[in-house]
Amino acid sequence: MRIIMKFGGSVLDSPQRIKKIVEIVKSFRINKNTPEIICVISAMYGVTDKIIALSDSLVKSDKRAIKKFIDEMTLVHIELVEGAITNPKLRQQAKNAVLEVMSEFQAVLEGLVLIAEVTPRSLDHILSFGERLMAPIVSYSLKDQDLNSDYFTGKQIGIVTDSNFGEASPLMDTTKFRVNARLVPILQKNIIPVVTGYIAADQHDHVTTLGRSGSDYTATIIAFCINADVVYLWSDVDGLMTADPSIVNGAQVLSEISYNEAAEMVLFGAKYIHPRALEPVMDSNIPIIIRNALNLINPGTTITPVLKVSTNIVKSIISIRNTALIDVGGGGMVGAPGTAASIFQTLAKNKVNIMMISQGPSESSISMILKQDDLGKAITSLELKLLGRVIKHLNVLENVSIVTVVGSGMRGIKGIAGRIFTSIAKNDINVIMIAQGSSELNLAFVVNDDDCEKAVRTLHHEFGLDKVQ
Ligand code: ASP
Ligand code: MG
Repeated sequence: MRIIMKFGGSVLDSPQRIKKIVEIVKSFRINKNTPEIICVISAMYGVTDKIIALSDSLVKSDKRAIKKFIDEMTLVHIELVEGAITNPKLRQQAKNAVLEVMSEFQAVLEGLVLIAEVTPRSLDHILSFGERLMAPIVSYSLKDQDLNSDYFTGKQIGIVTDSNFGEASPLMDTTKFRVNARLVPILQKNIIPVVTGYIAADQHDHVTTLGRSGSDYTATIIAFCINADVVYLWSDVDGLMTADPSIVNGAQVLSEISYNEAAEMVLFGAKYIHPRALEPVMDSNIPIIIRNALNLINPGTTITPVLKVSTNIVKSIISIRNTALIDVGGGGMVGAPGTAASIFQTLAKNKVNIMMISQGPSESSISMILKQDDLGKAITSLELKLLGRVIKHLNVLENVSIVTVVGSGMRGIKGIAGRIFTSIAKNDINVIMIAQGSSELNLAFVVNDDDCEKAVRTLHHEFGLDKVQ
């Protein structure tokens, strides 16, 4: 049995929590027929954000910011070592390991501040130190509890990516070959490897990162490569839920959902998972189990290829707030191939992400939903490039919300849309826009943000989601 256990930054931010995760690893080692375990770790909570913030100071040649930053980072990581590791010898070794990484980190920062430049490549390089500082701490903490362990970077373990710094993708064939060659002998020696999540290297050995929350992705990449039996994502939330519990009192943790359903939910729920993290395991049918390391009584959510028979047609009501609607139109758009392409290209060039689209068959207008924060950029770019030519009008509606009903059971079942919109209408909520993909996995509609919470509660009740799944 091979198990990947990824620990998120939120359960690595105090000595007590580190001890907790060591206990978890130990319990799996002892109780479940001594499986092989690979730990994948994130940086301490907040550290990645702090490194990103520091990069601004580097560009401004602010040398003092480095000193302050290094002092703070050294302090918090050494505190973890001191609180989590009891054996004096191991504690000293862990401290030395942290200080060694820290001095390399400082040297790199001092180099960058001199040239006052942070490129995507050098940003990835400095971001890697968050995870690199954490790996020895977790590994020595495992040793402190008599578990045989060693620590590695994603690069050392063989994860090779393209050179798309900040959002790199693994070169899967090479990665599979290398990870197998490097990881399996370690596992055979009965060692628990602690691997830095999020970071890897390209073919020229430059450090890359897999995008924010990339440790999830590292975990599933490794799982795919060595054909693991299961991936555990440990953090401080219970699992994926039937709705946002801050909106619906009776929201429940979903015990089991499919990969496809999870893919619809992970970007917006309480548990954010890297959007591409499901890909490697979907191809190889490896289940993911989301667990709360601080609430072991809760069995969490299993994301699985084969669903046990489920009575629930609808699994979850997702709400996405802080969005805006843009409606563009004009007679010239009718029957003119390339209109949609030019609109979306213009937005893409300006790095505006479109979350939802709707166009009626008359083709005279296209409505789209985007993040409220992107609205200014979107309007300016459309106005400069297309208004008066391809498009004749541009209407904007701010403060709208997307409500999405997710569930693979909706496929091919008649009357679901009827139930959704009847109950929404009965509660006096106006629907502004609708989209449903032909996969029928989700149905999304847009309402005024003032109506969002009511819409979510109405549907949660309508589909009986407050009853335990
Ligand atoms: N430390 C990285 C981040 O904060 C990766 C991760 O946590 O998964 O995005
Ligand atoms: Mg994280």
